[in-house]
Amino acid sequence: MDNQAAPGVASPLPPLSGLLPAEIVESCSLDKSFQGKQIFKWIARGADSFGLMTDLSASLRSHLAKSFRVRSSTIGERLADGDGTVKIALALADGNVVECVLLVDSEGRKTACLSSQVGCPMGCVFCRTGQLGFARNLEASEIVDQFLVLNAEFGPLQNIVFMGMGEPLLNLDAVRKAIAILTHADGLGLSRRRITLSTSGLVEGIRDLADNGPDVRLAVSLTAADPAVRTPLMPITRSNPLPELREALLYYQEKTKDRITLEAVLIGGVNTAPGDVDALRAFIDGLQVTMNLIPWNRVPGMDFKEPTRQELEDFESMLEEKGIQFTQRARRGRGVSGACGQLGTVLKKKSPA
Ligand code: SAH
Ligand code: SF4
Repeated sequence: MDNQAAPGVASPLPPLSGLLPAEIVESCSLDKSFQGKQIFKWIARGADSFGLMTDLSASLRSHLAKSFRVRSSTIGERLADGDGTVKIALALADGNVVECVLLVDSEGRKTACLSSQVGCPMGCVFCRTGQLGFARNLEASEIVDQFLVLNAEFGPLQNIVFMGMGEPLLNLDAVRKAIAILTHADGLGLSRRRITLSTSGLVEGIRDLADNGPDVRLAVSLTAADPAVRTPLMPITRSNPLPELREALLYYQEKTKDRITLEAVLIGGVNTAPGDVDALRAFIDGLQVTMNLIPWNRVPGMDFKEPTRQELEDFESMLEEKGIQFTQRARRGRGVSGACGQLGTVLKKKSPA
């Protein structure tokens, strides 16, 4: 790798992985527009150094290597679980660390779980990332890099979920840019329909997505539809109350005609009672949704309990009785704390070297 910043050492060289072909032409002051496409293609194919871009002239390659980096991050710690889950930490140029995860489902389908922020400011009390606090938004290049690293090693990957660290709707510009790059026909050309953005329920952001796209799939971490249960778990409920969230989802549905996924993290003895199912039923009235049940994964230092098998079965029976469609997310990556929603073991702000 040439010109990759060492972990913890700020590099003055700007990365190209967060740029579209025309922007590469402009930033690199290239003579010919097709060179922007060539470089874009190489980056999408996983080249992590200019030296690998063999259809560029030697002088252009050396000019680029002096003034730019391909990616903005370097691969750090890497943890694998027996079930196929792999968590990779990326060291960012400013010393921060962000994590991404390879998820493999029972049919062998591979999904990249990407982070949108370093940490998260939303403070959900059951979430490891939320409890670690917030450092900063990620740049588009730092989001694209996560996919490139996972794709190079385990690809080709077709699916993306923004369910790593952070609240994507609080960093929508960079998330939009990363999606534009990853779906661009001159590069990876991924399908927007295979990209899912998960939000804790920011009303303004959901309306913005409905109005301005991109038309990716939307998942909302509802977890509870009774404000008395949800507010202490997800403090965002105070600033984005459930009736307003519901209105925003109706608006989204009307505009996009898309089915929305509502995620519910099920915590033992906290949000699995009959009253919780009644509140869910009332919330989804008029919405085309599928619920995705996620048994809470234990986070060291938290007092919550994982739901028992019986509790999950009872909850599912109640949903069935009420005619609520659901799927259950397998417990994966527990050994590496790698399942989406529990990232952050290595979140820290290093002091400059
Ligand atoms: N901030 C966004 C996206 C990242 S979180 C959001 O909240 O939607 C991804 C998912 O993991 C969310 O649905 C979240 O509720 C869930 N989650 C968080 N902590 C978890 C834990 N300890 N066990 C299981 N799921 C968890
Ligand atoms: Fe942030 Fe999502 Fe975790 Fe809540 S669940 S703290 S919004 S990452």
